[in-house]
Amino acid sequence: MEPPRTPPFAIRARLLTPLDAGGTRHEPDGLLIVDASGGITFAGPAADRPENAAAATDLRPWVLLPGMVDLHAHLPQLPNAGLGAGLDLLTWLDRYIFPLERAFDRSAAERLAPSAWRAFAGAGTTTAMVYGAVYEASLDAAFEAAEAHGIRAIIGKVMMDRGTYDLDIAPADILDQTLAESARLIERWHGAADGRLRYAVTPRFAISCTADLLRESASLARSTGAYWQTHVSEDRGEIAEVGRLFPDAIDYVDVYDRAGGLGEWTVLAHGVHLSDRELARLVETGSHVAHCPVSNLFLASGMMPLGRYLDAGLSVGLGSDVAGGPELSIFSAMRVGFYVQHARRVAGFDGADDGRLLEPLDWLRLGSLGGAQALGLGATIGSLEVGKEADVILVDPSFVAPSEGQPADEDPADLASRLMFRSHPDMVRAAWVRGRRLEGPGARPV
Ligand SMILES: [Zn+2]
Repeated sequence: MEPPRTPPFAIRARLLTPLDAGGTRHEPDGLLIVDASGGITFAGPAADRPENAAAATDLRPWVLLPGMVDLHAHLPQLPNAGLGAGLDLLTWLDRYIFPLERAFDRSAAERLAPSAWRAFAGAGTTTAMVYGAVYEASLDAAFEAAEAHGIRAIIGKVMMDRGTYDLDIAPADILDQTLAESARLIERWHGAADGRLRYAVTPRFAISCTADLLRESASLARSTGAYWQTHVSEDRGEIAEVGRLFPDAIDYVDVYDRAGGLGEWTVLAHGVHLSDRELARLVETGSHVAHCPVSNLFLASGMMPLGRYLDAGLSVGLGSDVAGGPELSIFSAMRVGFYVQHARRVAGFDGADDGRLLEPLDWLRLGSLGGAQALGLGATIGSLEVGKEADVILVDPSFVAPSEGQPADEDPADLASRLMFRSHPDMVRAAWVRGRRLEGPGARPV
């Protein structure tokens, strides 16, 4: 059976979703009904089908899950995903990343963005929060491609006023120009496509931004209601350099705090090495962290103590950090995140200090609802519940079975475990945002 392309529709399939109220809903024989505007009007057992419901497309034994939320990725870097293993962050940026970003003008963005959005959807990601390059026109191209594709996207023009690759602008003019360009992009794109597209003011990180830029960018985000995203505490070398550049700041988080950058619309990537003071300050301000475990191991940045952060009340979602991470898949982030938690214990960080160990259903929640909540979209997406918008993926569990013909896992925790530990690049067979099917999944014949 062909999965439906446009709403309204009803799908009969297995359902697995975290719930806003906590816990998980699992329906071995489930039904999802989506109305003409792309909203979920029913998610439950097929036996409880409302009397007036239209006929359902029967996609059993495939599984419907909420779409994954990738809280951190870099659009221009996608072509170098999987390259540069063994380098530290700052060397890797110089050698593999800045050359790509420097060349990411409007035409490069027009070439890459449509296939990039299809690749995100193919990996099961229906919401992506991404960094662009520094050029305004390339951001327009990225937004236009997202608008046409249908993915839910939050994008921002990278802002840098030192150590930048933006060589056409006199250093004295960079601050004014990057603020003006960001403001224009916010006006054009923040809230576009009925709120499906949003803008994130995006100073790269403290090393490439002066205190003025950090402060002005935070104030721009606050005055326009846009998000504010940057990197924090990723790598020891980076942390030392930030300490040298901002000698008055108490620590890395304090650099952003002094700029007015912390708050509920702020998403900070990494936060691998946060001190207790930094952690407490992020919790206190309602700031969010994008945990990118694949990238953190690829670049040998460190192993984040996720359990301890969650126990402290920090809001955390998952990010691919492509191309710091080689893969777009949030299921891969779950798997590697789990291994990081175990590796910390092996390395002797165990005990109460390291906090709780997440189980597969916890990881599934983090990759979907956790990310949605970090974006302030917890009431809109992140789970398959009545009243939410239908951001949904369809997975064929036979791709994650250890051998052909093995019966499907009946237990929901076992299914979640297979999906994260045996995730397969072709297992996502369809993805929808607001009930509209996205191109990308199932693109390759299998
Ligand atoms: Zn990053």
